[in-house]
Amino acid sequence: MKFAVIGKPIGHSKSPEIHQDFANQFDAKIEFRKDEVTPETLETWVADFFKDGGKGVSITLPLKEAALNYADEISDRARLASACNVIYKKDERLLADCTDGFGLIKDLEENLKISLKDKKILILGAGGAARGIIPSIIENNPSKLKIANRTENKARRLKEDLEGKVDLKGKSLIFEAGGLADDFLLADSYDLVINSTSISTQAGESIGLPKALFTGTKLAYDLFYSAKKTAFMQDALAAGAEKVSDGWGMLVEQGAESFRLWTNLIPDTSRLLEKPID
Ligand code: NAP
Repeated sequence: MKFAVIGKPIGHSKSPEIHQDFANQFDAKIEFRKDEVTPETLETWVADFFKDGGKGVSITLPLKEAALNYADEISDRARLASACNVIYKKDERLLADCTDGFGLIKDLEENLKISLKDKKILILGAGGAARGIIPSIIENNPSKLKIANRTENKARRLKEDLEGKVDLKGKSLIFEAGGLADDFLLADSYDLVINSTSISTQAGESIGLPKALFTGTKLAYDLFYSAKKTAFMQDALAAGAEKVSDGWGMLVEQGAESFRLWTNLIPDTSRLLEKPID
C-alpha cells in the first residue's frame, strides 16, 4: 500500500514512522513517502500519486485548505473545518477528511482523562488548526468556548463562520471571540487552555500571557509537539496550571484515524503514546 505525507516544510514530519508502527501491528507492507509539495504543485502531485496506485495521503501546512479542491467528496468533518488533513481513494473516488479534531478529543478525553463536558475552554489562535479542532470541541458540550487571537478580527470571523456551520441548537454554549488583551483573557477562568498558535514553532518564544490566566486551569495543552516542554507549557506550569501536555498524542491519534480510513484497520496507539519518536 502506497501512502505519503505532503507539505512545506516537510522534513520534520513524523508521519512515516507513526504509520510504519501502525502497519507493523498488522504485518502490512507499506511504502510511505515524504514529499515537499507547494500549493502550485499540489494538483499535479495528487493526480500522479493516485494514478500511480497511491492509497492515502496526509496533508499538512500550507495545503490543508487547497487540497479540498482535488477530492471528489468532502466529509462533514472536513466541510466544518474548511480544510482536510487526509485524502484517500475509495471505490475509485478521492475522499477528503479532517481527523485533527478527532485526534485532539481522543487525546484529551481518553489519554489525558479530561472530559470537555460543561468545561470552560480557551483557544489561543484562529488559524487552520483552530478551525480543525473547534467543531469537535463543540460537539463535546463545553459550557464556554472562547477564541482569542493576535489578529482579533480573524477570531471573530472564525466564530461567525463556525456559527453558520456547526449545529448549536440544543447546546447551552457561551461562545466568544476576541483579541489577546488582558481584559478579554482574564474575564473568565478556564479548565482547559489550548495553544493553537504557531508560536511554539519558534523555540523559546512566548505569547506573553498574563499569569492569572492559568488560575484554576486543569490542563494547558499545546498543539505543537516537541521533545522539550514548550515556552507555553513552561509558562502555564509556572503560573499554576495543574497539568500540561504537548500535541504528540493528538498527532498519533489523528494518524491512527487516518490509518483506519485508509485501511479499515484500527491500530493500537499505546506504544507510540508512551514513547515519542525523537
Ligand atoms: P496557522 O494557520 O499559520 O495559524 C497560526 C496562528 O498562530 C494564527 O492564529 C496566528 O495569529 C498565531 N500566531 C502566530 N505567531 C504568533 C505570535 N507571535 N503571537 C501570537 N499569536 C501568533 O497555523 P496552524 O496550522 O493553525 O498551526 C498552529 C500550530 O498547531 C502549529 O504549531 C502546528 O504544528 C500545530 N498543529 C499540531 C497538530 C497535531 O496533530 N498535534 C495538528 C495541526 C497543527 P494571527 O492570525 O494574528 O497571525
